[in-house]
Amino acid sequence: MSAQLLMQRAWAMLPLIWMGRSLNRFSLSLFPRLHQRFMLGLMLCCVSLTTAIAPVYANSDKPSDKRDPAIEAQLDSMLGAGMYPQSRDEFEQILAMISDTTPVATYVRAWGYRALELVHAERDHDAAIELADRLIERALASNYPTAISEAYAVRIEVLAESNQRQQAIATIVDLDQWLPSVTDERVLFFTHNVAARVLHQAQHFEDALGHYLAAQEAIALNDGAQSLRRRQFLNLHIARLQTELEHFESAMELVEATLEEAKRQNVHHRIPELLLLKGYLQGNIPEHGPRESLITYAETIEWAERLDDTRRVLAARNNMGSVYIQLGEYDHARDVLLKALTIAETQNYETERQFVAFNLADIDVKQGNYEQGISQMREIIALTESAGRQRDYAEMMSYLAIAYGSAERYQEQAETLDELLQLRQRIFRAERDEALSELQARFEAQEKAQQITLLQQENIVQAQQIANTSLQRRIVFLFALSVILAALVLFFAYRSAQRTNKVLNETNESLKEQNLRDPLTQLANRRALQRTLDTFTAKADSESRGAMILIDIDHFKTINDNFGHTAGDEVLITIAQRLKQFIHSNDLVVRWGGEEFVIFMPDIRGRDVVEITRELLRLFAAQPVTFEQQNIPVSATAGVIDLPLQGSTLDDCNWEECLRLADSLLYLGKLHGRNQAHYLHGITQPIDVVKEQIFRDFDHANSQGWLQIESIPSPVSVQR
Ligand code: GH3
Ligand code: MG
Ligand code: MG
Repeated sequence: MSAQLLMQRAWAMLPLIWMGRSLNRFSLSLFPRLHQRFMLGLMLCCVSLTTAIAPVYANSDKPSDKRDPAIEAQLDSMLGAGMYPQSRDEFEQILAMISDTTPVATYVRAWGYRALELVHAERDHDAAIELADRLIERALASNYPTAISEAYAVRIEVLAESNQRQQAIATIVDLDQWLPSVTDERVLFFTHNVAARVLHQAQHFEDALGHYLAAQEAIALNDGAQSLRRRQFLNLHIARLQTELEHFESAMELVEATLEEAKRQNVHHRIPELLLLKGYLQGNIPEHGPRESLITYAETIEWAERLDDTRRVLAARNNMGSVYIQLGEYDHARDVLLKALTIAETQNYETERQFVAFNLADIDVKQGNYEQGISQMREIIALTESAGRQRDYAEMMSYLAIAYGSAERYQEQAETLDELLQLRQRIFRAERDEALSELQARFEAQEKAQQITLLQQENIVQAQQIANTSLQRRIVFLFALSVILAALVLFFAYRSAQRTNKVLNETNESLKEQNLRDPLTQLANRRALQRTLDTFTAKADSESRGAMILIDIDHFKTINDNFGHTAGDEVLITIAQRLKQFIHSNDLVVRWGGEEFVIFMPDIRGRDVVEITRELLRLFAAQPVTFEQQNIPVSATAGVIDLPLQGSTLDDCNWEECLRLADSLLYLGKLHGRNQAHYLHGITQPIDVVKEQIFRDFDHANSQGWLQIESIPSPVSVQR
């Protein structure tokens, strides 16, 4: 992800974070426990929302992504004056650096130069066209107008150079679709310039001029040496175009201005071409005339020789010869033309040689040397015809006709004129056919371009639809995500509340438990007994028959004294365990006080209370308690009572009163030597009569025989 994109995303997140914070404060006041999870969920939503939406805004279609600045700089420095780098080795090195990952504009530029090199230097037209087509394909895939335009321009140049003018012109129609979106100065210059020259050659002067001017505009603001050269080149072509349109004055103005700038800025290499054109223009503008053009051609020869531009030296001499012929100065003309002929022959410039030789033949005719002149002319005309240069052929034929006229060979003159007429008709037809098929090609290209535009528009609509669908999908996804997150937050909150409740209940339960349990022995405590007996009382009916045994360990103080308090605790714990194992599941064993226990049996029907009590005494005394390898002898004394007391109800004598009676019975056992129990199983008097007296003086009541007490001795004796 680029840093810029990251910034975009960060900015997009700010409002969401702010919103999150406000909601946080809001939620904190409403749901203090929930707010952390809620915020986490919300932040997750924000992050996913930003991540999902950010790419929609991030458009990476920037020119900087399409160029490799390092390679571009190398290409710039190598370009020089030509259309492609002239240094083969260096150019080869640059091409070696281009790969499939090279940005598209740089890729097209570098390989575009290679295509131009193929067609101009190596004359391999097929390879050049193939390469240009490949570049167009790649550029179109990128949809980047600058690269597409450059690729099309390469194709136009290559086609024109391969004599496929119609296809070249058809490709200009494709190029025109993309040019309005191009801003790159170099590409604008190159593409307009290529289009202008091809249209110029095809004599589409107005279209050509439009492209020349656009090319000129592209470099107007730049005054580097490169731009100066390009401007001269363009001006030269514009001036030639104006000359062809016979706008001699405007052409002259432009040529003079360009020449002046070329000399002032010391950019000389176009000067001979400019001067040649100036000389021609002077010959066609009455106020200048042929004498001025002779001076200009002389200047041309000077500059061309200085710049080693042999072709222009030759052209200037030939033109000079023509002017002398025109002026009737045949000797001067012959001198100049013979020099030109030497150059053409030594340099092997065949076409130029033919022109010069034809001019010389014309001088022969003009000087009455008909035989030699006419045969020379016919020889050259035959060469021109076989080379297929029809325009040159036609022009030379018209000179030949004049020559026959001068030689008074009228028959041949008539034949030549007739042939010339037919030739002109053929040329006209061919040109018209070409113009028609060119028009057709242009029409088809425009049609195709329109279809492409339509397709592109359809593509844009489709892309938009796809983007919309994906955005919709994202929104649905985010909505679902938000619902899921909200549900999760609620679920966790609910579970947390449930857990808290459970912990609370457990704590309560354990508190309750602790409330009803003795911490040392883990037996039920006084409160538990109270609760159980209150319930028992509430539910009790005439059938209810329970019993209660109050037990007190004998001489427990002595145990503490002899073995230590910890040993005493251990005795309590051990006895408690024995008691728990002894009782029935419905019975309750309680630590009533220090070394006192109560056993409550809610239902003794079918159970032998006396036997149970005896076994209980055995439980204490039969086995000493072992603590730290010491045997601690233990015994207990108990008081046993029915609940309700026989012959009465719990209303007459409640469980607390019964327990007080059990305590008295226990005390009785202590008095009688301990390690025994006493069981009150009935009273001989009505309870309401004797109750008060019994409680006031148990011994007295007992002595009166009101109490039916059974003494239960322990089955084991204890040795202390
Ligand atoms: P008696 O046979 O007449 O019942 O004599 P006793 O020594 O057992 O009776 P007393 O009531 O004089 O002594 C009870 C002693 O039990 C007094 C107290 O220090 C001790 N005691 C009470 N609770 C605990 C306890 O939780 N641990 C220990 N180690 N001793 C306790
Ligand atoms: Mg006691
Ligand atoms: Mg005791």
